[in-house]
Amino acid sequence: MPTCEICGEEVEEIYSCRVCGYRFCANCGDPASGECEFCMEEEEL
Ligand SMILES: [Zn+2]
Ligand SMILES: [Zn+2]
Repeated sequence: MPTCEICGEEVEEIYSCRVCGYRFCANCGDPASGECEFCMEEEEL
């Protein structure tokens, strides 16, 4: 199974951040917008 690059957990569904390219699980970002939690935080500033 793929591994989330943010939390390190093995998950069945992995997503690639369209901003930084990180592969993240559903808990570490927003699959709908295609952004990891780091890039989501940046947009809030
Ligand atoms: Zn994760
Ligand atoms: Zn990102």
